[in-house]
Amino acid sequence: MKRLAILGATGSIGTQTLQVVDAFPGQFEVVILAGHSNWQLLLQQAEKYHPACIVVTEPTAYEKLKQENRDPGCAVLCGMQGVLSALDTYQIDMLVGAMSGAAGIEPTLKALEMGIDLALANKETLVAGGDLVRKAQQKSGAKILPVDSEHSAIFQCIEPGSKCLNKILLTASGGPFRTWDKEALYQVTPAQALKHPNWSMGQKITIDSATLMNKGLEVIEANWLFGVDYDNIQVLVHPQSIIHSMVEYGDGTVLAHLGKADMRIPIQYALTWPERAANPFPKLDFTKLAGLEFFDPDYDKFPALALAFQAGRTGKSAPAVLNGANEIAVAAFLKEQIGFMDIPALVGWVVEQHNPVEIESFAHLLEIDRWARNQAELFVKNHKK
Ligand code: NDP
Ligand code: MG
Repeated sequence: MKRLAILGATGSIGTQTLQVVDAFPGQFEVVILAGHSNWQLLLQQAEKYHPACIVVTEPTAYEKLKQENRDPGCAVLCGMQGVLSALDTYQIDMLVGAMSGAAGIEPTLKALEMGIDLALANKETLVAGGDLVRKAQQKSGAKILPVDSEHSAIFQCIEPGSKCLNKILLTASGGPFRTWDKEALYQVTPAQALKHPNWSMGQKITIDSATLMNKGLEVIEANWLFGVDYDNIQVLVHPQSIIHSMVEYGDGTVLAHLGKADMRIPIQYALTWPERAANPFPKLDFTKLAGLEFFDPDYDKFPALALAFQAGRTGKSAPAVLNGANEIAVAAFLKEQIGFMDIPALVGWVVEQHNPVEIESFAHLLEIDRWARNQAELFVKNHKK
């Protein structure tokens, strides 16, 4: 039995990870479950999966759970400190990193340092802390299995040891505003941006998908995971989300990964790797596909993608600043404090003021992240809608 810790258990990836666990009885043991504010769901999950420990990272939610007087049948810890202490206390074989945002970085780094394999959904970890992740991984030998559908696809298309990989073709649905005029994008509301055409995901990544910042973060993620230069990562808009990404080789061969837009498939692959196991989830029916389209992304309408490429190429602390600023921008947009097109404007403004430096440690990364967030808050404060 593979022993799992699932961080972000109450979210979109977390709950789908538990569906994968359900599909393979006897193969996985859920040892640690962590959620942030949704203590009710975490409690239900504890009652169903009997973990050794649950962690509520949001203190008020922790208090509410305690007041409930319902015995979850396991240890209950609080806060990020609780997550770190659970990792020290309980034996696990794999950590599923599915917290949203930069909060996921610290426990992910700790797991890697401890030599625990990682099923990684939290792309912010690699974007902001790529250097630290690589060092921790090299030291301990822990593996990173990508959960992000595009990176899982690329991981499966890359032939081990191949010397003639030309480029990665990273596919993007294009989001809900792919066909909109640029002028209309200034009027986009949170409700409109939260309606993704193909995927059902958490709020932050759904907004990132609408601005194409998500694809930008994925470009940086791909650079870290596969060591492919930015010049050799091509973003390709593919509205049907059937091809999850491709790899082109020097002999002209292109290997593509196709499948339904169902995150349980890449989650499962990360959990069962190197095995590929049959599951009961719906399969692709080619006779029902109307056609597959491909376009270049529109960098003018979606400047976030260009900003991410630029931050990735600059390297050092630039991607961490891009990431921190973007998290504040997305939260401000959701609260209707800034407009949709202000998201890339804010991120560009913060990145421009930053003088990139090598990230020395996790404490240093936190300092840079805090600086980026403070600058972003300043932009929001001075902004007039
Ligand atoms: P959700 O918003 O659905 O879930 C986020 C999870 O993280 C929840 O369990 C939430 O707890 C928890 N969380 C939120 N804030 C904090 C915090 N400050 N500290 C600790 N935990 C926190 O997000 P998704 O599941 O969609 O995404 C999770 C990660 O996976 C993101 O990094 C995203 O980019 C990545 N990803 C997601 C994909 C998807 O299809 N959803 C695809 C590819 C990558 P609670 O709900 O209890 O408050
Ligand atoms: Mg993705």
